[in-house]
Amino acid sequence: MSDLQPVRGTRDLIGEEFRRHAHVIDTARHVAGLYGFDEWATPIFEDTRVFARTLGETSDVVSKEMYTFTDRGGDSLTLRPENTAGVCRALVTGGLTQSLPQKVFYAGPMFRYERPQKGRYRQFHQIGCELIGAAEPLADAEVIAAGWDILTKLGISGDVVLELNTLGDKDSRDAYRAALVAYFTAHKASLSEDSLTRLERNPMRILDSKNEGDKALVADAPIIDPYLTPAAAAFFEQLQAHLVGMGIPSVRNARIVRGLDYYSHTAFEFVTTALGAQGTVMAGGRYDGLVEEMGGPPTPAVGWAAGIERLSMLCNEMPKPMDTVAVLPVVGQIDPDKAISAAVDMMQLLRRSSIRAEMSYSGNLKRRLSRANKVGARYAVFLSEFGTAAVRDLISGAQIDMQAAEVPAYLQDRMR
Ligand code: ATP
Ligand code: MG
Repeated sequence: MSDLQPVRGTRDLIGEEFRRHAHVIDTARHVAGLYGFDEWATPIFEDTRVFARTLGETSDVVSKEMYTFTDRGGDSLTLRPENTAGVCRALVTGGLTQSLPQKVFYAGPMFRYERPQKGRYRQFHQIGCELIGAAEPLADAEVIAAGWDILTKLGISGDVVLELNTLGDKDSRDAYRAALVAYFTAHKASLSEDSLTRLERNPMRILDSKNEGDKALVADAPIIDPYLTPAAAAFFEQLQAHLVGMGIPSVRNARIVRGLDYYSHTAFEFVTTALGAQGTVMAGGRYDGLVEEMGGPPTPAVGWAAGIERLSMLCNEMPKPMDTVAVLPVVGQIDPDKAISAAVDMMQLLRRSSIRAEMSYSGNLKRRLSRANKVGARYAVFLSEFGTAAVRDLISGAQIDMQAAEVPAYLQDRMR
């Protein structure tokens, strides 16, 4: 036995777990494609500044959760904690700010040093969509609709609620921030230590606090609505009208915030009560200032990211895995080698007809058959060395004889 264990907060994806994971990605990739999103893959590690600059030095992710290391060349690198920064970096370094809009889908591992628990890992996986280069509320609506359709296709939109908020434009936010500072300063004595720091640095983040005492204060804190400029209020109205038109239900949650200045207007989360404390499955919003932060021109953008582990835990309807055909050489009549090679030929024929086929590597007929049943094979094909075959339905037990050459077409009709 080995004393080696998977690193805390990491998991192996094997068998059913891998299938669920892949199903989430395949479904999301397909639906995102219908909305015109093309897949990108950016590196899993980046220059640390890609994240430090854009996520904000004071954010939890940057201050506590990043896997940062110095490589052998002395450069500070970070395993990506999320992928929006990498996509924006790639957009800028690839000169793509000249060909907008870009609609990007991605899927892959992310890394955060967190306390592992159900639905929270140190290596986890996200899918995400970014629509870069459109400032219209229709862009926000389409991004949300793509997310909604993915959840629907996965069969989980019934368990999930879309919570929607607006952070307004800069003027709205400045006015709102002043109101929040006034309110929380008046209740300073009851604020948690973390939130006292936030009051100095980033007061809106107090709305996001998980501290119970803070939550009680937050419940009575002012909301942004009276501080929205007419333009920001109109943007939010139009987004909601688009969503209604698209048949996507949402509820207002005025407590959804994003701590950083480049976030504006739309902020949203898809939330479920089915996963205990880890209830947010998909989170996103508009980040009009991020591309500029990365050294590009001012560029509007909106997107979301979703945790694949949390989605895959919610998924109850899985597509049926591919049926298998077990091929069995009937050895022993005249020439065993001939029977085996007839079976190998049949296996290749089936595979090249898009049928999953396997043969045991050793054993007599009885053992091969019991292995075929054990792996849940759907059909068994017994092959003689004379070019004939018997096809047995392993569920019903019914068996029929035919020429070997007829087997692929026979099975293709039944296994579709
Ligand atoms: P939380 O409040 O749960 O920590 P977050 O605000 O840090 O979430 P985002 O950065 O918005 O999360 O990431 C988007 C989504 O990625 C989350 O809604 C969640 O589904 C997933 N996610 C984030 N961190 C983890 C993690 N450590 N393990 C598994 N999934 C995660
Ligand atoms: Mg987090």
